[in-house]
Amino acid sequence: MYSNQDIPFARPFIGHEEEAALLRVLRSGWLTTGREALAFEAEFTRFLEDPEAGLPPLHSLTVNSATSGLHLALEACGLSPGELVLVPSYTFVSTAEVVRYLHGEVVFVDTAPGTFHIDPKALEATLERLGRGEPAYAHAHGAGSFGPRGVPKAVIPVHYGGLPCAMDAIMAIARKYGLKVIEDAAHAFPSQLSRGVWAGTIGDLGVFSFYATKTLTTAEGGMVVSRDQELARRIALMRSHGIDRSVWNRYTDTRASWYYEVVAAGYKYNMPDLLAALGRVQLARAGELLDMRRKIAALYDAAFQEEDFFSLPPTGPGDARHLYPLRLNLERLSLSRDAFIEKIQAAGVGVSVHFIPLHSMPYYRQRYGLTEGDLPESMRSFQRVISLPIWPKMQDAQVERVIQVVKAIARE
Ligand SMILES: *Cc1c(COP(=O)(O)O)cnc(C)c1O
Repeated sequence: MYSNQDIPFARPFIGHEEEAALLRVLRSGWLTTGREALAFEAEFTRFLEDPEAGLPPLHSLTVNSATSGLHLALEACGLSPGELVLVPSYTFVSTAEVVRYLHGEVVFVDTAPGTFHIDPKALEATLERLGRGEPAYAHAHGAGSFGPRGVPKAVIPVHYGGLPCAMDAIMAIARKYGLKVIEDAAHAFPSQLSRGVWAGTIGDLGVFSFYATKTLTTAEGGMVVSRDQELARRIALMRSHGIDRSVWNRYTDTRASWYYEVVAAGYKYNMPDLLAALGRVQLARAGELLDMRRKIAALYDAAFQEEDFFSLPPTGPGDARHLYPLRLNLERLSLSRDAFIEKIQAAGVGVSVHFIPLHSMPYYRQRYGLTEGDLPESMRSFQRVISLPIWPKMQDAQVERVIQVVKAIARE
């Protein structure tokens, strides 16, 4: 499909060190979860931990995907059937589906105008409605009450694109309403709220993704972090069949390493050493990869800010720049966003859309009786956004080519 001239939407950075790490593990005789996973966890903690900050120690737990990590996080928080979890509509489907795995109900929250992030004001308004025993959504489309009612248990803010959410406001609301906070940090490695304060480490739990297109990749994989020892313990147990191996030294004097007890119906969500070894190399490169993405974003910013066809992505100093979500000022353009995308693709440049709001998806629409207009800001953001390629090894000439293609289509 692609010619040599084509520029893919995403491409992982894999160097000789990644190849060497894979070979080392392949030859070691131990492929699945073991020493490499433990080392990856320790190194990940070291990356995010500020020993001077005086906070409880951070636990990092490898998992086989961020989706698994989010599932385990909600399970550890004790989500019960029928309880509510507040989730932005503007996210990947994982953030919401894990609520349904545990038979909780999803309550979608709109984005703040001009951002791609959950709106703290909308979050609080939703919680107030629920507190009064009203349904989760305001009556945007006339008669009838709709959406779930019930007890809110948790909120999952998403650090969209690598730009951290307004965590101060979200944490204050969560404390007021007694909610657990699980940060979906799938885009946010490494993202800083302020110097040394990393996205994913603020809430009760944070979940990172190492999917092939993410800023750090193990092909498939993820990491759950928490400063809460009980939550971390539960996740360690449940990612591995609910098997407790620590019992042998509690109940026997012998070093019976074969002995274990099953204390819960757990899952199989562990990360193999083969992939953890990749993660360790990628982690060591994280700063270098971030610099490369920043350089590309700076070129895009400079090129697109001089045109009133476009609005630049919201950003800030701690942005991991996982995505480059350019917004089209459709009122100034003679073509639709979808037609725009078709033309970019026809020119051999890969683009994507992050995200199609979840409340507009058939499953959630039907389950909760929603219409698109119930979360209008999310729909507005979706209708004008295109994600441009931003991967570390993109050459300046490739970035220039994307810029030329996008500008030429806008000017037509
Ligand atoms: C990619 C992504 C996930 C899921 O990550 P996996 O590791 O593929 O399970 C979750 N949330 C968001 C916002 C994502 O973009």
